[in-house]
Amino acid sequence: MTAVGLRVAVVGAGVSGLAVAILLRRRGVRCDVYEKSDALGAVGAGIQLSPNGARILHELGAEPAMRRRSSAAHAIETRRWNDGTLLSRVAHGTACEDRFQAPYYLVHRADLQACLVDLLPPGRIQLGRAVTGVVEHGDRVELRFADGGSTTADVVIAADGVHSALRAAVVDDSPVFSGYSVYRGLVPAAAVPSFEDDPRVMFWFGPGRHVTYYPVSSGRTVHFSAVCADPSAGTAPRSSTADVPNLLAEFDGWHEDVRQVMRTAESVTRWGLFDRNLSDRYRTGRVALIGDAAHPMLPFLSQGASQALEDAVVLVDSLLTESMTDIPAALRRYEAVRRPRTAEVHRQSRLRADTFHLPDGPLQAERDAALAGLRDLAHLDWLYGDAVRSAHALAGH
Ligand SMILES: Cc1cc2nc3c(=O)[nH]c(=O)nc-3n(C[C@H](O)[C@H](O)[C@H](O)COP(=O)(O)OP(=O)(O)OC[C@H]3O[C@@H](n4cnc5c(N)ncnc54)[C@H](O)[C@@H]3O)c2cc1C
Repeated sequence: MTAVGLRVAVVGAGVSGLAVAILLRRRGVRCDVYEKSDALGAVGAGIQLSPNGARILHELGAEPAMRRRSSAAHAIETRRWNDGTLLSRVAHGTACEDRFQAPYYLVHRADLQACLVDLLPPGRIQLGRAVTGVVEHGDRVELRFADGGSTTADVVIAADGVHSALRAAVVDDSPVFSGYSVYRGLVPAAAVPSFEDDPRVMFWFGPGRHVTYYPVSSGRTVHFSAVCADPSAGTAPRSSTADVPNLLAEFDGWHEDVRQVMRTAESVTRWGLFDRNLSDRYRTGRVALIGDAAHPMLPFLSQGASQALEDAVVLVDSLLTESMTDIPAALRRYEAVRRPRTAEVHRQSRLRADTFHLPDGPLQAERDAALAGLRDLAHLDWLYGDAVRSAHALAGH
């Protein structure tokens, strides 16, 4: 079989599924994307896209649209929850572009998704097509849909997120509740006037809680997320609308700048935060898990979307190197390249669930001293550097 004859089915039109579809199309491979939502863009909020993901977006051809529809962070700041003491400010801006050849984007998920969809020809994404299961028959894979339909492909890419329906074909597990829930909302840019000259990510750390906010949609709005310990959220619905007064009560005693942002929100949602224990397997013979379906992470290292983009590059490179003769070998190579990298990012994301939420005391003072020592981006070389190409080289590409 030639690459052109290969038929790939992608389940899910999030960041990972769309990136795979774009990369395959570039290489002349037939690829259909099946998305359960009836419309794109409705779900999600702000995403911080670090330069390891941004570089890939640029390679996909999304740079002009990303520069138009997002903000590039000048800096990342951390502050203390009650008195607003500045703990650290690490310059990004040109320092980030010089060191990592790409910016640190602040973007609404809908804008990111639109930038990617625009790189595909019309008709490649089938909306309203929820996949319920996948069955392998020798050298073909059958996809089954909730609407009673089915289709077959040579290989299936499961890009259907943390609550993936297809993951069960590879791993028998369930999402793990973190003990935290997150309030998320959007407020007008006027809530944080300093973002106009100094677009940046602001983290506020307090006992059992942290708050993050930054500009999205080219600076027209500010996205905030407010994380708090919440033992009951693991049994609650995945998301629900929440009250601003409840949110303010949760963050009683927090700095007025934070409370002012919260007060300005017209509506707020509340989500339980879930990941999964890392699996050894990201694939079967002809089904590959990618992005959150493969290795959902807590959002505390802000890496889910960037890791999904890295997965997409490695998976498509592996498939097109090997697949003409051996799809299972291609998927094994993808897993071998991506598992160590994503395992470390997953581990570090979980660690931050503790360090971000320390009670005031000696450990918090130690954390804050370490933050104060951050002068530049060198400590992020391992994360923002080119892990995709270097891991590939190690794996013999
Ligand atoms: C609070 C929070 C903050 C975050 N902040 C950041 C951040 O700052 N930076 C960052 O990089 N990441 C962040 N993330 C994570 C990031 O959003 C995800 O890692 C990323 O979107 C994963 O992309 P994906 O394509 O794998 O999955 P998703 O974006 O979840 O897309 C999955 C797609 O599959 C579709 N789908 C699901 N089931 C089916 C089915 N059965 N059939 C067909 N289609 C289906 C869904 O509708 C969806 O379109 C955050 C996550 C949370 C919860």
